[in-house]
Amino acid sequence: METTLTNRTKAEEIIHLWDNYLTPNYAPSLCLSKGKGCKVWDTNNKFYLDFIAGIAVNSLGHAHPAICHAINKQSRKLMHVSNLYYTEPAAKLAKTLSEASLGGKVFFCNSGAEANEALFKLAKLAGTDQGRTDIITFSNSFHGRTLGGISATGQEKVKVGFEPLMDCFKHARFNQLDSVKELISGKTAAILVEPIQGEGGIHVATPEFMLGLRALCDEHKILLLVDEIQCGLGRTGKMFAYEHYGILPDAIALAKGLGGGFPIGALVTNEKYADCFQPGSHGTTFGGNPLACVAAQAVLDTIDNQKLCQNAEKLGNYLLEKLGHLKVKFPEIKEVRGKGLMLGIVFDRPCKDLERIMQRRGLLTLATAENVIRLLPPLVVNKSQVNKALSIFKKSCLEWKTYFEEGTV
Ligand SMILES: *Cc1c(COP(=O)(O)O)cnc(C)c1O
Repeated sequence: METTLTNRTKAEEIIHLWDNYLTPNYAPSLCLSKGKGCKVWDTNNKFYLDFIAGIAVNSLGHAHPAICHAINKQSRKLMHVSNLYYTEPAAKLAKTLSEASLGGKVFFCNSGAEANEALFKLAKLAGTDQGRTDIITFSNSFHGRTLGGISATGQEKVKVGFEPLMDCFKHARFNQLDSVKELISGKTAAILVEPIQGEGGIHVATPEFMLGLRALCDEHKILLLVDEIQCGLGRTGKMFAYEHYGILPDAIALAKGLGGGFPIGALVTNEKYADCFQPGSHGTTFGGNPLACVAAQAVLDTIDNQKLCQNAEKLGNYLLEKLGHLKVKFPEIKEVRGKGLMLGIVFDRPCKDLERIMQRRGLLTLATAENVIRLLPPLVVNKSQVNKALSIFKKSCLEWKTYFEEGTV
């Protein structure tokens, strides 16, 4: 094997290995080695304010003592036993999740895509006797990278090269109730929606739309499924994004922020659909893994006892207001939208270069849907960190503007 790596920096060494041995489906930039709270460090010991938080995963920031302690302690007892046996962490976590949301039962899995797959299978099982097999999803949506997930996703770019996909997904227009009415038929089993579309560029569902979907589902006796994978668990200033609308879905999918960095996903049902899955109808080896469940329990307990929903709401509103002021200064900013700490700054042009400039200046964000800068800081972020991020954002915009005004970008 390679032994002549001595003259390389640590980062070069890692990048060399990565590029040679990992499938090239990602395009990573920095080489990160540690984190604490809202900060991460690269292998050269340069630090960054992390305003993307593992894409809404590190809800408590990095190396939060509650998560570290929970994982450490549990790892010395049982790390894994399979679903052949009862374990306390999964039982307790399911109770917490059910009581915090829909009051039904929980299925644990390991990722967002798997949580959505569970939603699809739940809806199909529930509709099977009436021949209801189809699921309506929306333009611009994102539901994961499995074959079911990309079939459900309303963006062509994720499907290229993978056809034929599942034809049970029908795509309506987001925020356009009439387009949903047109698609509903005797074969429709469910409607699946993100209250705030994340990957699609931070598009917020209107109250009329969400209330309308609930009413349509009641009228046709079909399931309203809500993908809370990115917008759930405190991110938008409420525990779940559907709470902003005063409606209750029939089932939700959770993942990302649930484990605060430890992989775990979940489906939560209401009482009506709590017993659809029977022994043998669905499963996954790692689901309900004790380490994952104690990490998620620590996240939920901390969101509650540190009042992190309130923090997300307060600092989200503050960010939105300050970004609104910057919009006046920079005509390139078309709109600032989102809720809580799930915000998008919409530009009149592609903004990948701005993301790179901010990164060089010590702020991690993510350009999405070409011309949107997405901000998803940890829920534990404080005001001085938000101010620091705003200052880097402003300086970076000025630098970016100079570039394109001089025609160098
Ligand atoms: C990230 C995401 C998924 C997929 O989750 P994975 O853990 O990557 O499989 C699904 N839906 C939404 C809304 C997401 O943001």
